Amino acid sequence: MTDSATTPRPSSPLATAQAQLADAVQILGYDEGMHRMLATPRREMNVAVPLRRDTGEIELFTGYRVQHNISRGPGKGGLRYSASVDPDEVRALAMWMTWKCAVVDVPYGGAKGGVTIDPRLYSQSELERVTRRYTSEIMPIIGPERDIMAPDIGTNEQTMAWIMDTYSVNLGYTIPAVTTGKPLTVGGSLGRPTATSRGVVHAAEAALGDAGVRLDEVSVAVQGFGKVGAPAARILAESGARVVAVSDEHGGVRASDGLDVPALLRHVADGGAVHEFEGGEAVDNAELLSLDVDVLIPAAVEGVIDADTARQVKARWVVEGANGPTTTEGDAALAERGVVVVPDILANAGGVVVSYFEWVQANQAYWWTENEIAERLEHRMLASYRAVASLAHAEGVSLRDAALTIGVRRVAEAHKIRGLYP
Ligand code: NAD
Repeated sequence: MTDSATTPRPSSPLATAQAQLADAVQILGYDEGMHRMLATPRREMNVAVPLRRDTGEIELFTGYRVQHNISRGPGKGGLRYSASVDPDEVRALAMWMTWKCAVVDVPYGGAKGGVTIDPRLYSQSELERVTRRYTSEIMPIIGPERDIMAPDIGTNEQTMAWIMDTYSVNLGYTIPAVTTGKPLTVGGSLGRPTATSRGVVHAAEAALGDAGVRLDEVSVAVQGFGKVGAPAARILAESGARVVAVSDEHGGVRASDGLDVPALLRHVADGGAVHEFEGGEAVDNAELLSLDVDVLIPAAVEGVIDADTARQVKARWVVEGANGPTTTEGDAALAERGVVVVPDILANAGGVVVSYFEWVQANQAYWWTENEIAERLEHRMLASYRAVASLAHAEGVSLRDAALTIGVRRVAEAHKIRGLYP
C-alpha cells in the first residue's frame, strides 16, 4: 500500500487504522487486491460550507463525508464538529465504522463526516445555519438507504434534528430514518443517549468476567466527560465500580475512595468545570492515564495512548470508549505488559447498535420500550464480545485482532459474494 492517496502521516489515526487493517488482512491471508479494496474509501465528498455570522460577516468552513464501505448496507457514522477535523481523520473514523458495524453484525457499511468548526465559538443559530448548509451540500449522497448520520464530538441531538428537517423539507415529506441520535419527539429512540456508554460497561463487565472479576470489585478512571464518558462514569458507579478519576480536555479530578459521580454530574450541568469539582483533587490528563486503577476508559479523542503513555499505564484493562485512542505503538506496548485492551470497534459499538434499532423503529413507525432496547443492546454486545473473545482465545491473538478479523472478514465476504461490476 504505497499510493500517496493511501499513505497517511505516521501516527495519525489513518496510519493506525491502516496498520490494523494490514494485521487483519495478514491473519486472513487476503491478497493485495482485496487489501487495497478494503483500505480505500468507496466515496468521498468535500464541500465548502459558508456561514453568515450573526454579525453579518461571512466565514468559510470545509465539510467532509466519507463512505468507506457500503457493501453490507448503507453508510453509517457520526458527524464531528471540530476545528481540527481533517480528511485523513474522517477516513480513519469511517473505516473503523465499517469494521464496527460488521463486528456487531448490523446491516450497514461505514461512513463519517466532519466540519472544520469549533462549535463552542458559535451561537445556536449560527450552528443551525452551518448544519443546514452542510446537509444540503451532501444531500446527493445521504438518506435512509444511502448514508445515515449520528452525533459525534461537537454535535448532538439538536444537530441531528436540523439535518433530518433539512433533508425532509428538501424532499417534501418527513424522513426520520435519515439520522439517528435524534430527540424522541422527532423519531429518536429510547435508550440512544446512553447506548454507547452502556455498551462500554457491558464490554468492560464481560472482559472482567473472563478473569473472574466483578464490576463492583474494581477501580476505574475515565478520560473524557462528554456523551460517552459522563454516562459511562455514572453507570459504572451505579454498578458498584469505584470511579476514582474523570477528566475533560481542561483536566480532571480524582478521589481514591471514589468520586460522587451524581454530584459531579450536577456540578457540570450547572456550568462547573470537571477539574474544579470540590469532591476530589485535581489531576491532569497525562496523570489520569497512568493512575493505579484496575480499568482505564479513554472516552475522549484519538491517539492519547502512544508508546510512551502506554508504558505508564497501570490498569489491567483498557476499554476503549473513544475511537482510536491507542496508536499502533501504544497497542504493542500495552500488549507487552499484559494489559487487556477491549478495542473501540467492539467496546463502543453500543451506540451504533441502538442507532440501528432507532432506524428500524423509524422505518416501521413502531416504537419499542426502553426495556426492550436495553435487553436487545445487552444481548448484542455480549454475543459480539463472546464471538470476539472465543476467536482471540482459539487463535492466540489480541481482542483487537480478533474483532478486526471478524469485521474485515464479514465485509470481504460481502464483496466476494456480490462480485465485481461489470
Ligand atoms: P463529546 O464531544 O460529547 O465529549 C468529548 C469529551 O472529551 C469532552 O468531555 C471533552 O472535553 C473531552 N476531551 C476532548 N479532548 C480531550 C483531551 N485531549 N483530553 C481529555 N479529554 C478531552 O464526544 P463523545 O460523543 O463523547 O465522543 C467521545 C469519543 O467517543 C470520540 O472518540 C467519539 O468518536 C467516540 N464515540 C462516540 C459515540 C457516541 O455515540 N457519541 C459512539 C462511539 C464512539
